[in-house]
Amino acid sequence: MEKFIPIQANIFCEPCKDCGARPVVEQAKGKFIVRCPKSKAHYQTKPGHVDINDWNTKNKVHPPLGNKTSNKQAS
Ligand SMILES: [Zn+2]
Repeated sequence: MEKFIPIQANIFCEPCKDCGARPVVEQAKGKFIVRCPKSKAHYQTKPGHVDINDWNTKNKVHPPLGNKTSNKQAS
């Protein structure tokens, strides 16, 4: 059974890069996973402490290093 804990509204979280949902925290055996509430297949952090920073890094549309620019046009 999945039990989700909402993340406080005053904490900045990137939306899920796959579906745009605000992430939630799942508690599993005393460990915490930051994940998408819609699907387990979307990005989720490793079990441990609540690592919103890792979630934010992985769900950023533009990586922090700015290694390449996309030529794709949004249609
Ligand atoms: Zn998602």
